[in-house]
Amino acid sequence: MARPHLIIFSDLDGTLLDHDDYRWQAASQALDRLRAANIPLVLNSSKTMPEIRALRKELGNTDPFIVENGAAVVIPARVLGNAVEEVVNFGATRDRVLEVLGAQRTKGARFKGFADMSADELAAETGLDRAAAERAKDRLGTEPLVWQGTEEELAQFEVALGSEQLRLVPGGRFLHAMGIFDKADGARFLLNKYREQCREQHGDEPVLAIALGDSPNDQQMLESADIPVVIRGVKSEQVRLPSARHAMRSLKPGPEGWNECVLNLLFEYGY
Ligand SMILES: [Mg+2]
Repeated sequence: MARPHLIIFSDLDGTLLDHDDYRWQAASQALDRLRAANIPLVLNSSKTMPEIRALRKELGNTDPFIVENGAAVVIPARVLGNAVEEVVNFGATRDRVLEVLGAQRTKGARFKGFADMSADELAAETGLDRAAAERAKDRLGTEPLVWQGTEEELAQFEVALGSEQLRLVPGGRFLHAMGIFDKADGARFLLNKYREQCREQHGDEPVLAIALGDSPNDQQMLESADIPVVIRGVKSEQVRLPSARHAMRSLKPGPEGWNECVLNLLFEYGY
């Protein structure tokens, strides 16, 4: 039997990138092996399009990517049969999100979002440099925020957002106000495209989707994959693993755990 074609979806913060210093170098060995084996690595993160573009350049990654928790999928030119780059959107625009947040603030909600911070303030808050902070502020469909009210007010705020068809999704560091979509929508969309392409090129050979994540906002992406991999991190205990799947948890946190799990899976599937 032919070894399966693999496609990897990966969260960034706390998963491929270290939670504290944003470095990925501990995963170099696995990244090199993926590139050598031509296995697509789709970055799927709460990060913005310019942020992920910058990281792809560093990694030498040329595969499609998913931005802002699934707000949009970017398919580069000459990938999956596309002549030119294509951006596919999946939810409320950022203008709509900011409009609803503004109305809630008028009613007393206390929070600080990226739109309320200068690039310098955001840099101080996150430890990013100024250019990176600018990229973080350049957004398509979501608004990360720090909640400054009580737990009770937060619960009311969530209900109010819900009545406007918006949600609040916890990430590694911020709460993300966004429309009704999640990281699995973009992943499923791309997986279908890859399966189609594979059918055209290789007939019925199997395609396995591997997803790696470290926090509750990765839950749906992990559930939509054939092989969910939970990377150990500050919130990874809150992620529930589907018991019926070939699922795993890393022993080490962040990129070290990523390296360990991807190398093991490559070995297991004959790469
Ligand atoms: Mg994460």
